[in-house]
Amino acid sequence: MRWKGRRVSENVEDRRGGGAKVGGISILGLVVAFVAWKFFGVDPQQAYQATQQITQQSQQSESAITQPSSAEKEVAEFVATVLADTEDTWTKIFSLEGMQYRQPKLVMFSGVVNSGCGRAESAMGPFYCPADQKIYIDTVFFKEMHQQLGISANLNVSERQVQGEAGDFAQAYVLAHEVGHHVQNLLGISAQVEQARLKSNTNQSNQLSVRLELQADCFAGVWANQNQQRTQFLEQGDIEVAMDAANKIGDDYLQKRARGQVVPDSFTHGSSQQRMQWFQTGLKSGDINRCNTINANL
Ligand SMILES: [Zn+2]
Repeated sequence: MRWKGRRVSENVEDRRGGGAKVGGISILGLVVAFVAWKFFGVDPQQAYQATQQITQQSQQSESAITQPSSAEKEVAEFVATVLADTEDTWTKIFSLEGMQYRQPKLVMFSGVVNSGCGRAESAMGPFYCPADQKIYIDTVFFKEMHQQLGISANLNVSERQVQGEAGDFAQAYVLAHEVGHHVQNLLGISAQVEQARLKSNTNQSNQLSVRLELQADCFAGVWANQNQQRTQFLEQGDIEVAMDAANKIGDDYLQKRARGQVVPDSFTHGSSQQRMQWFQTGLKSGDINRCNTINANL
């Protein structure tokens, strides 16, 4: 997958390793300046200079502690590029339908994170929180896709030559799937399905969850199709790697791995076959109207 040199999104919030917040420091600096001026009668000019010094010092010390490695910078750049790709593509799709696309934020975290949907752990995998319209991802997931599920990196043809991680288009598919949940939220589909789930038993509720997940897969495919037309980003082997990923994150595949047996009624994301099929439906058509998994005969 080609991804270098394109626009990077400004909607990424990096909370890995405690993440230095330059904005926070500046605000703190302003508060310090205000307090100094108000209560100690320090000349505002002096106070301003003093806080500038404080800000610079704390920036230096924070950056010394949290200096990201080049691999961490690379993955952040990759995520921000894919997110920008989804912004550009979905903005266009929405405007063709006479709607306005509202860009989601994406939070990169490590270990645990406090989201608008509660506290979440890395082990839960990437997720979208409708309450704060943010996507949360611990990028260690990309390594796990490779190490635990054997989703291979396509090193021969990829610009992203990071060892030990899943293929970059497989990673992009995961991000695009989460963006797909945001699109469902904007279109009001998530709310409708939530309503229906309240009136249903556990099996029906799981079934509705599957339908939502498959639609997010289909939307990821639509994105890939449209993004290809816009940027020609796909390389040979990319689709196969992403299909392999869709296969290996199917509920039946994961259940078989975890428990040695499959319990279809407990599926919440769909079988491998279904996930591959709906991703492909979106990918081939590039048309969101083909993604009606909610009413489709699955
Ligand atoms: Zn999902």
